[in-house]
Amino acid sequence: MTDEIYKYDVRCSTCRQTFKVELFESHEKNLFLADKKDWYCEKCKKEYFDQQTAALTKTQKAIGFPELEGTPKMISWAAKIRGDLIKKVDYLKQSLTFESDDEKKLSDKAFDMFMKEWQKNIEAKWWIDNRQINVRDISKGIGEISDSIK
Ligand SMILES: [Zn+2]
Repeated sequence: MTDEIYKYDVRCSTCRQTFKVELFESHEKNLFLADKKDWYCEKCKKEYFDQQTAALTKTQKAIGFPELEGTPKMISWAAKIRGDLIKKVDYLKQSLTFESDDEKKLSDKAFDMFMKEWQKNIEAKWWIDNRQINVRDISKGIGEISDSIK
């Protein structure tokens, strides 16, 4: 037995070049995967991530988030995390209801301050380290800010 049996020829869905991948399921399943799955070679994968990162960075810049610093790989990952976390903030903001205009004003201000704090984190590493932040954590952070500015 050699490792060769785990290697399968696949075709990149973007540039159509063939390359080898290692698959470790049963031989039948491997053949199925090699044939049906969308494969992307390293070069196209990198281009795809670069494009995605550029698009995310642009969207995030438009709402006040500066360009991230770090290695290209970290930046690519961090931009995605940052996008997901901003979505969580938006989700929370939309899910709130208020009894008065003053309450809403206070809440909006707290959200603004919260986002401004996040905007200071330009290190890709910070976002990667904090990728587990959930809606509840965000809600708590915003609640604390609200209390402090009441
Ligand atoms: Zn390719």
